Amino acid sequence: MTKIPADPSFTLKSLPPEITSKLQKEVKGQVMVDSASRGRYSTDASIYQQFPLAVLVPESAHDIEAGLSIAKESGIPVLPRGGGTSQCGQTTGAALVIDNSKYFRNILSSDLADSDKATIEVEPGIVLDHLNAFLKPHGLWYPVDVSTGAQATIGGMAGNNSCGSRSIAYGNMVHNVLSINAWLANGQLAHFGSYDSSVGEAKVLGNFVKGLVDHLKPEIEAHWPKVIRRVAGYNLDVFHPQSELPYTLDNSVNLSHLLVGSEGTLAYFKSLKLKLARLPKHKVLGVVNFASFYKAMDSAQHIVKLGPTAVELVDRTMIDLSRNNPAFRKTIETALVDAQAKTVDAILLVEFSGDEHAPLLQKLKDLDTLISDLGSPNSVVMMPDPAMQKNLWEVRKAGLNIMMSLKGDGKPVSFIEDCAVPLEHLANYTQALTEVFSKYGSRGTWYAHASVGTLHVRPILDMRRDGATKMRTIAQEASELVRKYKGAFSGEHGDGLCRGEWISWQFGPKITKALAQIKHQFDPSNLFNPGKIVNPPKMDDANYFRYPPSYTVIPVRPKLDWSAWNVQNNPVTETITAAGTGGDPAQGLAKAIEMCNNNGHCRKFDADVMCPSYRITRNEKDLTRGRANTLRLAMSGQLVMNGNDVPPAHLPLATQAVKEVMDLCVSCKGCKRECPTGVDMAKMKIEFLAQYKERFGHTLRDRLVAHLPRYAPMISKVPGLPLLLNLRNHIPLIAKVQEWLTGITAKRSLPVWQGKHFWNQDDLPFATPQELAKSNKRVVLFADTFNAYFENENLQAALSVLQKSGYMVHVARPSSSTSNPNPFCCGRTYLAAGMVDEAKTLLLALIEHLAPYAEQGIAIVGLEPSCLFTLRDEALSMGLGKSAQVVSEHAQLLEEFLAKEQKAGHFTPRFKESAQPILVHGHCHQKAFAAVSPALELLRLIPNANPQLIESSCCGMAGSFGYEVEHIEVSKQMAELSLLPTIRKHPDALVVADGTSCRHQIADGACREAMHIAKVLEKCLI
Ligand SMILES: Cc1cc2nc3c(=O)[nH]c(=O)nc-3n(C[C@H](O)[C@H](O)[C@H](O)COP(=O)(O)OP(=O)(O)OC[C@H]3O[C@@H](n4cnc5c(N)ncnc54)[C@H](O)[C@@H]3O)c2cc1C
Ligand code: SF4
Ligand code: SF4
Repeated sequence: MTKIPADPSFTLKSLPPEITSKLQKEVKGQVMVDSASRGRYSTDASIYQQFPLAVLVPESAHDIEAGLSIAKESGIPVLPRGGGTSQCGQTTGAALVIDNSKYFRNILSSDLADSDKATIEVEPGIVLDHLNAFLKPHGLWYPVDVSTGAQATIGGMAGNNSCGSRSIAYGNMVHNVLSINAWLANGQLAHFGSYDSSVGEAKVLGNFVKGLVDHLKPEIEAHWPKVIRRVAGYNLDVFHPQSELPYTLDNSVNLSHLLVGSEGTLAYFKSLKLKLARLPKHKVLGVVNFASFYKAMDSAQHIVKLGPTAVELVDRTMIDLSRNNPAFRKTIETALVDAQAKTVDAILLVEFSGDEHAPLLQKLKDLDTLISDLGSPNSVVMMPDPAMQKNLWEVRKAGLNIMMSLKGDGKPVSFIEDCAVPLEHLANYTQALTEVFSKYGSRGTWYAHASVGTLHVRPILDMRRDGATKMRTIAQEASELVRKYKGAFSGEHGDGLCRGEWISWQFGPKITKALAQIKHQFDPSNLFNPGKIVNPPKMDDANYFRYPPSYTVIPVRPKLDWSAWNVQNNPVTETITAAGTGGDPAQGLAKAIEMCNNNGHCRKFDADVMCPSYRITRNEKDLTRGRANTLRLAMSGQLVMNGNDVPPAHLPLATQAVKEVMDLCVSCKGCKRECPTGVDMAKMKIEFLAQYKERFGHTLRDRLVAHLPRYAPMISKVPGLPLLLNLRNHIPLIAKVQEWLTGITAKRSLPVWQGKHFWNQDDLPFATPQELAKSNKRVVLFADTFNAYFENENLQAALSVLQKSGYMVHVARPSSSTSNPNPFCCGRTYLAAGMVDEAKTLLLALIEHLAPYAEQGIAIVGLEPSCLFTLRDEALSMGLGKSAQVVSEHAQLLEEFLAKEQKAGHFTPRFKESAQPILVHGHCHQKAFAAVSPALELLRLIPNANPQLIESSCCGMAGSFGYEVEHIEVSKQMAELSLLPTIRKHPDALVVADGTSCRHQIADGACREAMHIAKVLEKCLI
C-alpha cells in the first residue's frame, strides 16, 4: 500500500484509490474523496483553507477505529472534527477528516440523582445545546456556554478548551471535564482521568509529562499566564498549577486535562465524562450603558466584585450593526437608555443568577449604585424579565456574525481576537490596541468577555491584498502589550494555524521544546492533526489562506442584480462604496456567496427555520454553509470536475456537484433572515437553476410548473376540462402515468382546479387609482394564481373582510382593453424553474399596473406568502427600477395590512367567539419577513381563539418540491420534524396556514383541513 509521508505541507490532492477502496470496504459510514466534498471540509470559521485528503463520516466507533488503523498504516494524518466552527484553522488539514457530528453523538451514561455531583458521559459529536436540552428537565446543564452552543460539539469544545460567557463562575472546558476515553496513535484505547488512580498507557504518558514539568517548574512559573483565559499549548500546568482558577477543586491532577485544548493533536476522543451544574432558578440582567468605551473597560474590574455570573461587552459598532439588522433591532433597542444610541459608546451585560429572585434584584440595585458612584448615574437598564434577557443574549452571541455581515473584501479577521489581560489593565490595553489599529489604517470592533479580560476584537483586513502584512505587524504590537500587561496571547479560541507560532513567544524555548516532546511521546508518527500546536506554519503563510492574493473569480453575468454586494469597505469608517463598484467579475454574486464565514450557525436545530434540509440529513452538503462553500469553490474554479461534469466557462455553477448541494434546498429563505451574515441561498438557487437549465435544458415538469400562470386561464375556459384534470386525483393509474411522464409524484393529490374560480366572477371591484384616491380606506388586492384557480374562496373571504370593514378594494387584473397578454403574476413559478427572463416579463406587467397605486401610498395586499414576498423581495433584484421599489414597499400580506390598520384605529372589527382554539403554522417566507406576528395579533382579537404558533421549520412542501417524486420522502420527513406531530397533538384545534402548499402538506400528512387566515377572519367577523 502507498505510504504517504505525514507532513502538513505535502501536496497530495486526494487519497490514492487503493486506500480509498480499503476504507470504503472496512467502514459502514460514508467515505468522500471528490473535490466538492473535500472542499466543504476544507475550512472552519477561520481565514484558512486546506483540502482534506478524504472525509469519513463514521457510523460507529468501529468505523473510527478502522479509519485510524488504515490511516496509520498508510501514513495519512487524521483530523477529528465536530461542528468545524473553530476560528484559528485548527480544524483544517491535508488529512483524513473524520466528522463525528452526524452519528457519533450519543449520551452513554449519566448520574443525575444528586444535582451537586451530577455527571454525564457522552460521545464527542454531541452538540452542546442538544446536551443541555436533555439536561434541562433534570434542572441541570453543562455550563461551558460557548456562543456557538447550537452547533459546537463537546469533542470540539474539549479539543479547543472552549470557554463560555459565564466562565467567571464556572470556568472553561478544562474545569468541567472529568475524564476522557481516547484512542492513541498506536490504536489503543486509554482512559485519562485522575492521575493518582490512572493505569496503563495513560499513566505512562502522565508520568512522562510529569517528568518534564518537574524540570521546568521555574520556566512555567516565569512564563505561564495566570489568567483564567489561557488556552495556548498543552496544559502542562496540571502538574504545577498556575491558573487563578484551579483545574480541580482539590488541586489534584486529572490527566484528561492534558488532552483538553490539544486540538486533535494528541489523541482521538471516544467519550468524555463531564461535570454538570445546577441550572440557576433565576437570572437577572443589568445592562450598563457607557458614554465612553474606556469607562466601560475601566469599570469591569469593579463590577466583577459584585459577584456576577457574566459581564459581557457590546461596543458601539456592534450596537449599530445590530440596529441595522431586522432580526436584532428591536432587541438591542431594549438595552439602551437612548434608543437611537446617540449617547452610548458601549454596553456591559451584567448577569446575576441564583436560586432566589429577591437577592438578585438587590444585586441589580447594587450595580446601579456602583455605576452611579463611578460617575454614570441612570445608566443601567434593568432586565429582570427572562424573555428579554434571552433575546439580548442572542444578539450578544451573534456578535461576531453581525460584524461579519460587513460587505466587501475587508473582513474582521481573527488572530488577536482573544488575548486575555488582567482586569486592572483592560482599559489601558484596549486603548493602546485601538491606537495600534488606527496606526495601520484599521479599526477594531470590541465585544465579549469583559469579566475575564478576554475581549474579542478583529481588525478589518483584506486578505486578498495587504491583509497578511498588516496582520503580522498588528500581532507583533499586540503581543508586546500582552506581555506588558502579563496576559495570555491565546485566551479562548485556540492556537490552530494562526496562533501556533506564538506558542514559543508565550512560553519560551524550553517549554516549547517540552510541548514537542509531549507530542512525540503521544504521537510519534505525527498521525493526529499535524502542524497544530507543534511545528505550526507561520500565521501569514498565504498557502493556507481561504482568500490568498492569488484568489480569482470566474466572470459571469448573473441573472439577478447582486450589485449591493459588489462593493468595498473602508476599514476605519466601515462605510461601503457605491453598489456595483466592488470589482467582482461575477457582478456581486461571488461576493454575496463569500459572505458565508463558515461559523456553522445553520447547523442549529431550534424553533426557527434554517436549515430544513440539514435537519433531515445532517449532511454538510445539505447545509447553507455546505452550499455556500460549494458555490464559492465553483465560482473560483477550485472544484476538480470529472470529464462529463466540466461546465462551459460562463456557467461555472452548471455542474452535477453544485446540483447535488442545491437539490434539497427548499428555497425557504430561512437563511436570508437567520444566517447572521444574511446568506440568501434561495436567491442563489435561482442563479444556479438559471445556469444549470441553460446548460441542460428544462424538463417537462419544469415547464408544467413554470407556465402554470399562463395556461391556468385557458384551462378554465374549456368547459369540463377542470373536471377532467381533477380525475387524476381519483384514478391512481392516471397519477402513475403522470408520475412516469413528468416526475410529479403519484403519492400526493394535486391542487383541485375550480370550475368557478376567482376570475370568472362578474362583480370584481376594479376601482381606478383616481376612484381609490377619493376614499380614505382603500386597498389593492393582488390575486395570485394559486388562490385564484384552486382556492378562490380565500380571495372571496379576503374581499369580504375588506369590504365589510369599509375598504374600497381594487382587484389587480389586466384590463380587457389593454393589449397586454401577460397574466398578473409574480413570476414565482418561473423563478422556481430558473426561468428568470420569463419571471421578469410577468413581474414587469404586474408592477407597471401596481406602481401607480403604490405611489399614492395604497397598500398592495396579497394572500399567498411566496407570491406576495416575491413582490417584496426578488422583484427588487430584477432591474425593474423605481416602480419595483415602490411596489415592494407597499406589498403586504392581508394580516400585515389589517394588523397595522387595527393599530391605527382604521380597522375596528367585532369578532364572534371562535369555536376552537387556533394553531398557526407560519409559511417560511412569512417567517423570513417577520410577518407571522401580525397574524397572531389579529387572531388574538377573536375571543377564545387563543392562537398558538407551531414552532416548526419548513413544512417540507416548498412550492413544487413536495410534489416531486425524488423529494416526497424528504418532504414528509420535514413535516414530521415538528409540524405534523404538533397538529396531531391538538385534535380540537383549528389550524391556520397561509401557504397553499403548507395546507396541502397538512391535509396529506395529518388529514386535517388547514385554513387561510382570510377565511378565519371572515368566519368570525360579525
Ligand atoms: C461566531 C463564533 C463564536 C464563537 N464563540 C466562542 C465562545 O464563546 N467560546 C469559545 O470558546 N469558542 C468560541 N468559538 C470557537 C468555536 O466555536 C469553539 O471552539 C467550539 O467549541 C468548537 O466546537 P466544534 O464542534 O465546532 O469544534 P471543531 O472546530 O470541529 O474542532 C475543534 C478542535 O477540536 C478537535 N476535535 C474535535 N473532535 C475531537 C475528538 N473527537 N477528539 C479529539 N479532538 C477533537 C478538532 O480536531 C479541532 O482541533 C466561536 C466561534 C465562532 C465562529
Ligand atoms: S451560511 Fe450563514 S449561518 Fe451558515 S455558516 Fe455561512 S455564515 Fe454561518
Ligand atoms: S433557503 Fe432554506 S433550505 Fe435553502 S439553504 Fe437556506 S435555509 Fe436551507
